[in-house]
Amino acid sequence: MASHNLAYVKIDDLEIIGYSVAGEETVVAMPQLDVCFDIGKAPDQVISINNVLLTHGHMDHAAGIAYYLSHRNFNNQTPGTVAAPANLIEPIKEILASWEMVDGSPIPANLIGVSAGDEIQIKPNLFARVFPTKHSRGSVGFTVIEKRKKLKKEYNSLTGPQIVELKRQNIQIDVPVEIPIVTYLGDTQYVDFSQLDYIKNSKILIAECTFYEIEHNERAEAGRHMYIREFAELVETMQNEHIVVTHTTQRTSLQVIKETLKNALSEEKFSKTILFMEKRKR
Ligand SMILES: [Zn+2]
Ligand SMILES: [Zn+2]
Repeated sequence: MASHNLAYVKIDDLEIIGYSVAGEETVVAMPQLDVCFDIGKAPDQVISINNVLLTHGHMDHAAGIAYYLSHRNFNNQTPGTVAAPANLIEPIKEILASWEMVDGSPIPANLIGVSAGDEIQIKPNLFARVFPTKHSRGSVGFTVIEKRKKLKKEYNSLTGPQIVELKRQNIQIDVPVEIPIVTYLGDTQYVDFSQLDYIKNSKILIAECTFYEIEHNERAEAGRHMYIREFAELVETMQNEHIVVTHTTQRTSLQVIKETLKNALSEEKFSKTILFMEKRKR
């Protein structure tokens, strides 16, 4: 039996599995990309994913780090990579060192401190770009970007041998292109993320929207989270094909959340929206 009953979404050939309830646990994995955004309490189903991209240090997003790393060692897997805000790397090392003493076994880890603007390589053509969010000190979000080369327009009609000949002459025949596949905002207050093209044009946007009721507006402000009206304002400026809503409060039922989303968003945006926690097997 797996430790968690996770939500499951499939968009074309990409699966999104995880769990995300504000204050309780947030972990959102994309196995085909080999990334797990935040780690929550390290559900069994995500242990074999090689890269954890941690957005900030709040316990409900980060508690499972030691278990994730230690369990990979137990399973004879390679050490997990955890990319986390640079200011968290030292305290994470201390936690791991303490757990090594408590548990009596080594916890191999590949820890990478990141800040806004950094890029880390996930696979030969796949990178995670780091951008700032407004939540806690050093908090960040991630966009997973595929980088490809595309033949320049003027060479489109060339035959194979002609292309080989141009390459032999060291002529630059292709241009680099970036395809932003998914952006994960993590926890954040409203920021106009549409100012960053790679976020605006990500095929999939995974965004928090924590609060839905007018009396929760102040909670959103205090906890540095998004309230439905801010979320609606944000997504209307974006171009994403799919929007996955995470980090929903326990204070409002999923049914009311769904209705509130429907009323707050345009029909077009609502049709692209997936309420993550609604996608669990019952
Ligand atoms: Zn959170
Ligand atoms: Zn948080």
